[in-house]
This record gives sequence, structure tokens and C-alpha cells, in this order.
Amino acid sequence: MSLQTHSLDISFEFFPPSTEAGREKLMGVRDALAERKPRFFSVTYGAGGSTQARTTQTVKAVRECGIETAPHLSCIGSDKGELRELLAHYREVGISSLVALRGDLPSGMGGIGELRYANELVEFIREETGNHFEIAVAGYPESHPQAPNFEKDLENFARKVNAGANLAITQYFFNAEAYFHFVERARRLGVEVPIIAGIMPITNYTKLARFSDACGADIPRWIRKQLEAYGDDGESIRAFGEEVVSRLCQQLLDGGAPGLHFYTLNQADATLKVLDNLS
Ligand code: FAD
Repeated sequence: MSLQTHSLDISFEFFPPSTEAGREKLMGVRDALAERKPRFFSVTYGAGGSTQARTTQTVKAVRECGIETAPHLSCIGSDKGELRELLAHYREVGISSLVALRGDLPSGMGGIGELRYANELVEFIREETGNHFEIAVAGYPESHPQAPNFEKDLENFARKVNAGANLAITQYFFNAEAYFHFVERARRLGVEVPIIAGIMPITNYTKLARFSDACGADIPRWIRKQLEAYGDDGESIRAFGEEVVSRLCQQLLDGGAPGLHFYTLNQADATLKVLDNLS
């Protein structure tokens, strides 16, 4: 099976749970989301090798339901030997899709490693394994936080796609215009692969604000103000979040986005509600 998109494609991202209870819960979440017939699931990979074993275990468990599951693979902090072994393992167990990333080095963790950027990782995967894997890379409609400017980031995005990626998944955003602008500018640079919109359901304002600061995703003032005003009222936050994210997804689909990739944070409800609202 392939990660490439055709009509409306949805996909769901999980992180590797650290407890038995978390693992059990994830299986229920996976089953609920599997009913929506996603094109694929994906499982994140902690930079610096911290959760590599958990990623492989989680991928193994998730894909037991028969849906293509793509491990995320980051290169920062790893040497080529480790990456080669991991690729061989994934190939051996029948995995055919990967999300290739540079990753972020946790503070205090050793050196950068042999591959500095995602384009080098994509090249390495192609050198080592030819066309075995469908490769997805990350795109940043609002620019990667370390990028000197939008143009440079876009050039770097095009470079990693040209290194052999089959599709891109964006960082999440709440402004559909940022996505459309990014896609248009990427197309002008010759990027032809599908660019799937990354979607973050809103369930918890404190966590969302923290994530967004770290990854450079903008929470527009009108959303922030309203979420802040709800304080501890989780029900209102979730209801408003559902409305905002459903409207965003509908705008994206109406504007031609080829797919939606949900950052589920290992929860099904918020994502399912958004999907139910889409026409
Ligand atoms: P790159 O594409 O390498 O870009 C990183 C920065 O370097 C950018 O500022 C870019 O402009 C610049 N750059 C790129 N190439 C070059 C070059 N050749 N020369 C000079 N500058 C260059 N992180 C995890 O740790 N684990 C995950 O599982 C994970 N999953 C993710 C999934 C998605 C869909 C997304 C959008 C992000 C994910 N991340 C994950 C976060 C990601 O690892 C970070 O955003 C990281 O800082 C950048 O990774 P990248 O692959 O986009 O890097």
C-alpha cells in the first residue's frame, strides 16, 4: 500500500505510549479511527534515539489492524550505522512508508550526528533502500522556527522533496491562508508532490499554547482570546475547538487540500467529531 494521496485522504498520527495503560488505550483509539478508513497511521520518533524502541513497538502494534503504518524517522543525533539498521529492520518487517525528519536534539544530548538536515536523510534512505519506501517529509506553512526567513525555508523544503520524497505533511496551523500560500509558493518552486495539511484538534489550551510556542505555530488572537476566556471550562474549550478546527478543515478541503493528517495525541474523540462535521 502507498502513502500517496488520490481523493480525500485522511491519516492519523500517534506517539509511542510509555505505560501499559497508555498502550491499551491507544489500541482502542486506533480501532475507533480505523473505522474512518485512513490512508495510513504514523508513529512519532523521539529525537536522539530516546524512544526508538518504543516507536518500533508501537508501529508493530498499530499496524496489526492491517492499515499501513509509517514510522517517523529522525536523523539528528544518530549515525548512519544506526539508521541503516533501523531501515533494514523496517524493511524486513514489511513496512513500506516512512516520515523522514531532521528532528530536534533534546538539550544536553550529544552531537548532531552524521546527517544534519532532512534532505540528507531522504538522500540516505534512497541510497540505502532505493524506492522501497514511500517517504513523507515535513512542511511549514508558517516557517520552521529556526529558518532565517520564509523563502529560505521554502527552498530547503523543495530541496528535501527533490531528494526523493513522495509527499509532504505540514506542521499544524489555524489559518488556512498560510497553507494555501505555502502550497502555491512550493508549486512555483517546482514541488509537485501532494502536500497534506497537518491538523491539531483543540482540546486543552495550556498544552496547545506550549506546543505552539515550541513549534512556531500561530494561534490567532481571536482563537487565543476565546480559549483563554474559558479558563478551566474544558467542555467549552472542546466545543469551540471543534467548531474552529472543523471550519478550518472544510476550508482546506474546499480549497483543494489533498488530505488531512490529524495529530491525534492518542485521542480519538476530538478528531472523530471534526470528521463528522465535514461534508
Ligand atoms: P529540516 O527540513 O532539516 O529543516 C530544519 C531547519 O533547517 C529549517 O529551518 C530549514 O529551513 C533548515 N534547513 C533544512 N535543510 C537545510 C540545508 N540543507 N541547509 C541549511 N538549512 C537547512 N520531531 C521529532 O523529533 N519526532 C517526530 O516524530 C516528529 N514528527 C513530525 C511530523 C511532522 C509532520 C512535522 C511537521 C514535524 C515533526 N517533528 C518531529 C518536528 C521536526 O522534527 C522539527 O520541526 C525539526 O526541528 C525539523 O525537522 P525537519 O525534518 O522539518 O527539518
